[in-house]
Amino acid sequence: MFEYLQGKTVLLTGAAGFIGSNLVAKLLPLGVRVIGVDNLITGRAENLAEFLDESGNSKVANFEFIRADVSQPARNYMDEYRTVDVILHFASPASPPRYQAYPVETYLVNTMGTHYLLQYLKETNPEGRFIFAGTSEAYGNPLVHPQPETYWGNVNPNGKRSCYDESKRMGETICGIFYRDFGVDARIVRIFNTYGPQMDPTDGRVIPNFVNQAVRKEPLTIYGDGSYTRSYCYIDDLIEYILRMADKENLAGETINIGNPEEFTILQTAQMVHKLVNSGVEFKPEYKPLPADDPTRRCPDISKAKKLLEYEPQVKFVDGLKKTVAYFTSP
Ligand code: UDP
Repeated sequence: MFEYLQGKTVLLTGAAGFIGSNLVAKLLPLGVRVIGVDNLITGRAENLAEFLDESGNSKVANFEFIRADVSQPARNYMDEYRTVDVILHFASPASPPRYQAYPVETYLVNTMGTHYLLQYLKETNPEGRFIFAGTSEAYGNPLVHPQPETYWGNVNPNGKRSCYDESKRMGETICGIFYRDFGVDARIVRIFNTYGPQMDPTDGRVIPNFVNQAVRKEPLTIYGDGSYTRSYCYIDDLIEYILRMADKENLAGETINIGNPEEFTILQTAQMVHKLVNSGVEFKPEYKPLPADDPTRRCPDISKAKKLLEYEPQVKFVDGLKKTVAYFTSP
């Protein structure tokens, strides 16, 4: 398994983020040399504590950390033109409160960042692979359920979410141009809602909010009437998908949904978290107004991932939630 990746050098942007840091932890044991880059605006150095000392220097073999903004040309932070085999572009604020707090940084990293990194790969290693962290938000408030890759989406181009949605869509456009016009092996994963250890407990997303509220015995905050849906993928399943996307041959130019198609309403999500953390206590959520442009339903069609990546999620929501609660409550 992962024969292509073994012994390769990977440039991983967003290495201190939720997905990035979980990727570092899985890539290093495969014998991959990882150059992790992060500007730490939403990434957290503590996610890399196992690999870095307090000054940010690596304490393990095959890992190097560069604190930099990848919206800049890569030569600004890669001191010389070093050859990398694979670029995993996972840098971007990702939770709605965070990307709305950093709208400019968000659109720059997904557009200019994607452009500069693809340019760097094209110049330094035309045979290299590029994996772009796309998003289910590319589908906006979808009118098709579940969402297949062929659906073009229903996005408000000038709404509060558009700094993220539209820049991720533009990132996909840039990948498509480098693939078609310049022959770069660019691949896109469209990531659906993901949860698990290393997630920022304060990022405002539904799972960290509910778990932390439940642990503190506060009412769980349901936006709207709780009928909206999401489909949650446990981080280990997501990482498996990403590694397969990077490792497999003949996926140049492909866009693949990755996520778990088990769909839950927000009310069901709240009830599950409550039962897990405060079983026996009466469930009394607090209903709050819905944020603007909140997608009504979201569920991935993963038939393409099943066929091309030969994988389906293994972790049931309740089991993943247990591990996530353990992470958020560990000292
Ligand atoms: N949500 C909620 N309570 C919270 C946080 C989020 O009801 O404390 C809802 C939110 O309105 C959305 C869903 O949960 O319908 C998922 O929100 P999240 O911020 O996790 O990510 P999104 O899928 O919207 O990007």
